[in-house]
Amino acid sequence: MNIFVIMKRTFDTEEKISINNGQVSEDGATFIINPYDEYAIEEALKLKEEHGGEITLVTFGDEESEKELRTGLAMGADKAVLINSEDLDEADQFSTAAILAAYLKDQEIDIILAGNVTVDGGTGQVGPRLAEELNIPVVTVITKLTVDGNKAIIERDVEGDLEIIEASLPLLVTCQQGLNEPRYPSLPGIMKAKKKPLEELELDDLDLDEDEVAAKIKSVDIFLPPAKAAGKVLQGETKQQVSELITLLRTEAKVI
Ligand SMILES: Cc1cc2nc3c(=O)[nH]c(=O)nc-3n(C[C@H](O)[C@H](O)[C@H](O)COP(=O)(O)OP(=O)(O)OC[C@H]3O[C@@H](n4cnc5c(N)ncnc54)[C@H](O)[C@@H]3O)c2cc1C
Repeated sequence: MNIFVIMKRTFDTEEKISINNGQVSEDGATFIINPYDEYAIEEALKLKEEHGGEITLVTFGDEESEKELRTGLAMGADKAVLINSEDLDEADQFSTAAILAAYLKDQEIDIILAGNVTVDGGTGQVGPRLAEELNIPVVTVITKLTVDGNKAIIERDVEGDLEIIEASLPLLVTCQQGLNEPRYPSLPGIMKAKKKPLEELELDDLDLDEDEVAAKIKSVDIFLPPAKAAGKVLQGETKQQVSELITLLRTEAKVI
């Protein structure tokens, strides 16, 4: 099987976000593979274990993204492609999907696995947009995947209900928590990853110019939520506390 995983380098979910000049500051921040993309990589590894084939990781990002691609290779993927973003100042979900499509349209694809959403941008647009560009079916938020020949049987979580879908390959799926338990890279895996192929491409290599993939939307403002005031701890007997709480809800919070 020709398996592709599209993955993004994101802020560590433990990072404390700060804003500088209207932008999220990256100074000193730790980056990781977007957690939903780890489910995508794990599922790709399971597909390869069952059906054989090759797993290619693809990211659109800067040079720093090589670190996360190497982590994916250490988990067991075979090769990686870094599409360098340095030609573009501004990129949105349209740009990202168009750039990934320009690379993927020339590949032999059985399945593309993506995360359901990123923990930073968080729009969940890139997977479905990419499938549209490639004119292949897409199934989002999957929790189980079985491939049999040219057919995939997929389970997805629909607000607590289960939907079962049949789709034909080539196919794009977006992966959700519950699909699997991503493995940690092993020490031999980390050593091997250093020598696995990592191809770096520029927009020119994809016959794209900046105007074709320029962002169509832009963020106009970004700010942190106002700091929360300290909470109030009520003292005394329970009866007294309840009475004080009701008074406060009426006079201060004005919710009753
Ligand atoms: C050079 C550059 C400039 C940018 N400029 C701006 C800007 O000016 N303003 C702004 O708001 N944002 C900017 N961005 C961020 C960019 O818009 C988003 O990172 C990107 O569109 C992904 O959107 P998302 O995080 O909502 O992903 P989602 O749609 O939530 O991602 C879903 C899934 O798609 C896949 N995916 C997402 N992104 C990538 C990727 N890059 N490569 C491979 N797979 C991916 C992953 O599998 C992911 O789990 C910039 C990014 C770059 C690289």
